[in-house]
Amino acid sequence: MNAVAEISPVKKFEIKDASEEGFETHYFDIDEVKNLCNGVDLTVARHKDHPNTAFILIGDSTNTRWFDIKNLLRQKKIAVKQVQVNPQMLMNFILSGGREKSEVDYKITSTEKALFTILKSSREHKAEDVHVHIEGAITKVYFRVDGRLRLMDSYSGSQTLGDSIGKAIFTSLPKIAGNESSGDYAGKEQPLNATFNDDDGGRWRAGLYPADEGPRIAIRELGKRSETYIKLPDLGLTPLQIATIKSALKSGKGMFLITGPTSSGKSTTLSSLLSMLNEEGGEAIYTIEDPVERILPGTAQATTNQSKKTEELLARQLLRQDPDTIGFGELRTKTMVAAAVRMATTGHRVLGTFHTNGAVECVSSLEGELGVSLHRLATPGFLNASMYQELVGKPCSECSLSFEQIKNSLDPFDAARIANKFGDDIHNFKFINDEGCEHCRKTGVKGKTAIAEIVPIDIKACRFIASRDMLGWKEYLKSKGWPMIRDHAIERVRTGQLDIFSCEKIVGSLTSDPMDEFDFEELKRLAKYELQ
Ligand SMILES: [Zn+2]
Repeated sequence: MNAVAEISPVKKFEIKDASEEGFETHYFDIDEVKNLCNGVDLTVARHKDHPNTAFILIGDSTNTRWFDIKNLLRQKKIAVKQVQVNPQMLMNFILSGGREKSEVDYKITSTEKALFTILKSSREHKAEDVHVHIEGAITKVYFRVDGRLRLMDSYSGSQTLGDSIGKAIFTSLPKIAGNESSGDYAGKEQPLNATFNDDDGGRWRAGLYPADEGPRIAIRELGKRSETYIKLPDLGLTPLQIATIKSALKSGKGMFLITGPTSSGKSTTLSSLLSMLNEEGGEAIYTIEDPVERILPGTAQATTNQSKKTEELLARQLLRQDPDTIGFGELRTKTMVAAAVRMATTGHRVLGTFHTNGAVECVSSLEGELGVSLHRLATPGFLNASMYQELVGKPCSECSLSFEQIKNSLDPFDAARIANKFGDDIHNFKFINDEGCEHCRKTGVKGKTAIAEIVPIDIKACRFIASRDMLGWKEYLKSKGWPMIRDHAIERVRTGQLDIFSCEKIVGSLTSDPMDEFDFEELKRLAKYELQ
C-alpha cells in the first residue's frame, strides 16, 4: 500500500490517524517552518516511506499559510505535497507531538494528551494560569504570565478543541481515581469545578464560567513545592513595611490580615510570612486552604473539600491539635471566619487572606459581610495589623523609556500634572514601552511586584473601629504621615521602579490625593492644556 505517493496537490484525503499512516511531525528541522505552523490548523510532516518529501497536512482549508510554507520549502529544494485532513485528527496528531503510541500513552485519550501538552507548555512559560475561551467556532488559549493574559493560540476551524478540553477536564478525567468534578461537561450551562492530575506529577484545578458567548475555563496548578520562599523585600515591600509586619507578628496571638483583590499575590505573602515563622522554628504551624496553593515543608497544610475535610471538621480539629499559628487560605465563609476568630481569641496567632478593597475597609467587611461583632473587632490585641496589597507589572529593564524619550508623545495635561507633582524626580521615571522587546516578549513588562499598605492596629484604631469611623481613622493615619498604598506607589514611581500610568490604573491618580481638599489653582493651571 502506498496511498501517499498518489496524492496530488489539494486533493482531499481522509486520514484516520496520521501516526498510523506513517506520518511524523518534524518540520524538516527548519525553525521558519515551525513558526509558520504555529497553531493546529496545519503542520509539516515527514512520511516514513518518503523521507525527502515534506507533507503539508492541512486541517482548515481557509488557512493560507501553506502557501508561504510551500514557497519556503521549494526555495530550499525540498519536494512538497499537500494533504487535506480531518481537523480533529490533525489537532490530536500535532498536540501529541506526532509520536508513536507507547504503553504510557495508551491509558489516556489523545484529547487528554492535548490538554496535558497545553498545561506542560504553560509551565515552561512560567504561567500562573491557563484560560480557555470558547466562542462559537473559535477556541482561544491564553497564559497569564507576569499578571497579564497572553494569547498563546487561537484555533479557528478546529471548533472542537475547546469542547474537547472541557470534556477531558469535567467528564473523562474525573472517572480516574484522585480526580473530581462538580458535574459533567454536558452541564456546561452552569458553573463547574474540577481537580485532576496530569501525566507529569502535576495537580490542577479548573473552573468553568458559563459566559453568554460560550464557556470560559480557567486552569491553575496546585501545590507547587516551594523549597525557598519569597523573602519580604523581594515581594517589593519597604523596610518600614517589613518592620511593621514583624512587629505585628511578635505577638503570639491575635490576627494578621492580608487583603486585596483576586490575583493580588495574597497567598504568596501568606506563604512568605508562614515560612518566615516556620524558619524561626519552635512553632506548630497549621493551615486550612481551599486549595493548598504552595507546599510549605514543615507545616501541616490541609485542603478543604465537601466530603471528609469540610471547613467545619478541620476547624474543630485544629482546637485539639494545640497549634501556635494557623494560616487561613481564604476567609470567605462565615464558618472559616468564625473558626479564625475563635482561634485568635484563644491564644493563637492567626494569619488569614481576605478579599476586600483596603486595609481600613477590611474591618467594615468583616463586620458587615462576615458577621464578626464590632465589640470583638475593637478589642485591643484582637487585630494586630491589616495589610492590603495589589500587584503591578514592572517596566522591562531592556526597553523601558525615560521621560525625555516620551515627553513629546505624552498628553500635555499628563506631562504638566506629573511635572507639577514630581519636579526633578521625573528624570528618574521609567515608562513602559508598549512595543516591548525580545527580553519581555514584546509586552514592555517583565515580572511584577507588590504595592501595599500595612496598618498597625493601635488603641486609637480600636476607638475608630468601635465608632465605625473609618474616615476618622484614615485622617488619623494621614496626620501621622503613615504611608498608604498610594504613597508606596508614589515612592516606587519616584525612584524609577514602576511606571506611573500602570500604578494609576490600580490606585487612582498619583498627582491628586482623594484625602486632600481639591486644588482649585492647580486645576486652573491644568485647564490651560485643554483645547478650547
Ligand atoms: Zn522589553
